[in-house]
Amino acid sequence: MCRHIGWLGAPRSVAALVLDPSQGLLVQSYAPRRQKHGLMNADGWGAGFFDDGVPRRWRSDKPLWGDASFASVAAALRSGCVVAAVRSATIGMPIEPSASAPFTDGQWLLSHNGIVNRAVLPLTGVAESTVDSAVLAALIFSRGLDALGSTIAEVGALDANARLNILAANGSRMLATTWGDTLSMLRLPDGVVLASEPYDDDPGWTDIPDRHLVDVSDSRVELTPLKGSV
Ligand code: GLN
Repeated sequence: MCRHIGWLGAPRSVAALVLDPSQGLLVQSYAPRRQKHGLMNADGWGAGFFDDGVPRRWRSDKPLWGDASFASVAAALRSGCVVAAVRSATIGMPIEPSASAPFTDGQWLLSHNGIVNRAVLPLTGVAESTVDSAVLAALIFSRGLDALGSTIAEVGALDANARLNILAANGSRMLATTWGDTLSMLRLPDGVVLASEPYDDDPGWTDIPDRHLVDVSDSRVELTPLKGSV
């Protein structure tokens, strides 16, 4: 499983969110604390952010810890909406930059932590990569993010073994689902962090229960159980 993190709030540097925290995504790439599947996340990474409403991405198929160029530049990239991920490729999936989250439709940045049988996905359009996460992302984009909860419940019903933790943002709204893996939230005075696992030991982190949808905008957070929850 991969690990992902999202930020919606006042502008922050990508380094402050991804590289600097004591248990942030960088450390999670080689020593995650709550990862249930896979030991490390060395098969690629991606950092996406909104720049005046435009989604921009930097993705790689190499380990995050080896990228000195990104570490040097990330401190200068500031945004009020960030989606980043490190990847542990599912067996049989391609390892290429386009298989690393975040995926985009030009409006949303989206990461998938989990696994899904591509054969059950009723996708008619084109995906960025043949990796299961990209095919799922394309399906979610085609249905629209307002339907994220129902799309995930539908896919969960089609593939009982699927794990479907999604994190998506569009600059003013951040959405996440829990379906088979961990997700934590930290509400700060100037914004909200959603992350596969806490990036530090702040006592303010809360765990999101499984099979829920989290909807964040204007520092308002709504938590809804997903259909098909047990
Ligand atoms: N199945 C996806 C991949 O192969 C995501 C894997 C994960 O969550 N570790 O990239």
